[in-house]
Amino acid sequence: MSGRTLTVAHLFPELLNLYGDGGNVLVLRKRLEWRHDACEVVECHVGDRPSFSGIDIAFIGGGSDREQRIVCERLLDERDELTAFVEDGGVLLAVCGGYQLLGHSYLMGDEEVTGLGLVDLYTDRGAPRLIGNVAVESRISPQPIVGYENHGGRTHLGEGVEPMGRVLFGHGNDGVTGEEGCLYKNVVGTYVHGPLLPKNPGVADHLLSCALERRYGDGTLEPLDDEAELAANKVMVDRLMAGEEAE
Ligand code: GLN
Repeated sequence: MSGRTLTVAHLFPELLNLYGDGGNVLVLRKRLEWRHDACEVVECHVGDRPSFSGIDIAFIGGGSDREQRIVCERLLDERDELTAFVEDGGVLLAVCGGYQLLGHSYLMGDEEVTGLGLVDLYTDRGAPRLIGNVAVESRISPQPIVGYENHGGRTHLGEGVEPMGRVLFGHGNDGVTGEEGCLYKNVVGTYVHGPLLPKNPGVADHLLSCALERRYGDGTLEPLDDEAELAANKVMVDRLMAGEEAE
């Protein structure tokens, strides 16, 4: 099937865009266009009143604590709409700082900041920061998911919340459990920057398929020639599995 259109909301791109997170939106767009589908991107800036009624995929990236606080205050006003979107199967990808905001609370310094409460999780802090390359085995990707993490936060999943996957290399949610990210309905939360989607086309297609299924009742996707993407993924997987940090 082609000729379909998905609408992607990029939330607060001017504040939350660490390590090329905005590239995730480009990947979603290109993978639709390469299949002769279309993608509209709506950027939601601070001061806008985001509406999620026509949105298929919402994306929120990572940022510093300062930026996260601004975004969180802003998003708390939209909590009911966001909750309705998530509970209705809306697709939401949240990376690092954005991922932390999905939970009940986030510890910023000594202060506990209220989160969106969309997923049963919370984040406190630890030392040292968890920094470096990461590889994660996940049911939403045929290849290990590779990327880069850098966070002081330690995220703890509620009982029954599924992690995005298991850490093969790196730290993940808390550096202890071996779990990385979360999956809840059509929400994917993760610490993986890089950005996430260019080297992990399986994750991009998982999100697109969920969104197409919800909008059109058919999440089928034509296969693409992912030779370059999979080569980039494999280089990192091979290096990390050999116990070697990338240069
Ligand atoms: N400020 C958060 C932390 O340090 C998230 C950082 C990020 O998005 N990379 O835990």
